[in-house]
Amino acid sequence: YVFGKKKATEVAHLIWKRVVQNGDTVIDATCGNGYDTLAMLKMVADELGRGRVYGMDIQGDALKRTSSLLDESVTLKEKELVKLFSICHSRMEEIVPANSPVRLVAFNLGYLPGGDKTITTASETTQLALEAAKKILIPGGLISLVVYVGHPGGMEELETVEAFASGLSVDNWICCKFQMLNRPLAPVLVLLFKSDSTRSY
Ligand code: SAM
Repeated sequence: YVFGKKKATEVAHLIWKRVVQNGDTVIDATCGNGYDTLAMLKMVADELGRGRVYGMDIQGDALKRTSSLLDESVTLKEKELVKLFSICHSRMEEIVPANSPVRLVAFNLGYLPGGDKTITTASETTQLALEAAKKILIPGGLISLVVYVGHPGGMEELETVEAFASGLSVDNWICCKFQMLNRPLAPVLVLLFKSDSTRSY
């Protein structure tokens, strides 16, 4: 595929599919309209009822939209694999059971499309959430961020994400970003792979 013809979110989903396996536990740190939650659920759900998606958002409206999208798109049994929480993603450790191996933590930053554009993710809590994600991710896992730079605070948030990524150990992490060089306001995809010596990507 050609990256330039795909949206950053679509490219992110293609990469998640290479990392996530049936039965995995994954986290949607910013549910929004629920498209990422749905995509993750399709990747983790198996016939044995394993696989979990822990989703969160600070806006009740976003969680309602996510829940409605799931109602339209998946069976009741599949929907039960999704646990939605109305909390800030900096508190993700409080909702994921301690013994759950988390393979993917996904962020889609910015504001809720079709919602209040003044309610956006914020550098400070994004930084805390990244620290939490780093702690609970298993080796072989991925932290994925789609970062929007066109709204107030967006560029600063990208700088925060990049500073966090730049500080991760070269021994355990592979950190990269996809950016459209000829579209400076297009969202940037940041991928932080936690190394697993037993697996090659
Ligand atoms: N992933 C979504 C989808 O597939 O439709 C889009 C997410 S939207 C760009 C960003 C979302 O992040 C908004 O719904 C917003 O309410 C939420 N958000 C903002 N700050 C947050 C925080 N501290 N913790 C969790 N969610 C937050």
